[in-house]
Amino acid sequence: MEGCIFCQIATGKTPARVVIQDDRTVAFHDINPQAPVHVLIIPRRHVGSLTELGEGDGALLGHLMTQAIQVARLSGLDPTGYRLVVNAGKDGNQTVGHLHVHVLGGRPMTWPPG
Ligand code: 5GP
Ligand code: ZN
Repeated sequence: MEGCIFCQIATGKTPARVVIQDDRTVAFHDINPQAPVHVLIIPRRHVGSLTELGEGDGALLGHLMTQAIQVARLSGLDPTGYRLVVNAGKDGNQTVGHLHVHVLGGRPMTWPPG
């Protein structure tokens, strides 16, 4: 989608520090990390938000999740644990309108999130 920063990263038009990628997803380091490990996993195809998805999207959602697990493992987070976050919409504080899963780790997280 034109003007979408994550579509531009997915197509290589905007540079990013890619961790892993495949035909459906790209994982790259967040530009403003909130933890020692902060990686985003996006679908290559433009999906605005979880709010656009439904029952037929289990395969994509499952793949995003397994890629996130893989990123955490490759980043050495399995022994200490980590957090996956998906912000959706205004109240979810989603700031980029292209679906993404955050992988956060390398420090203890707190609860509840703000
Ligand atoms: P959200 O608040 O939508 O869940 O998260 C968006 C994330 O994207 C933020 O953590 C922000 O730092 C990150 N981000 C925004 N623009 C860019 C960019 O151009 N490159 C990278 N690597 N991350 C970005
Ligand atoms: Zn997009």
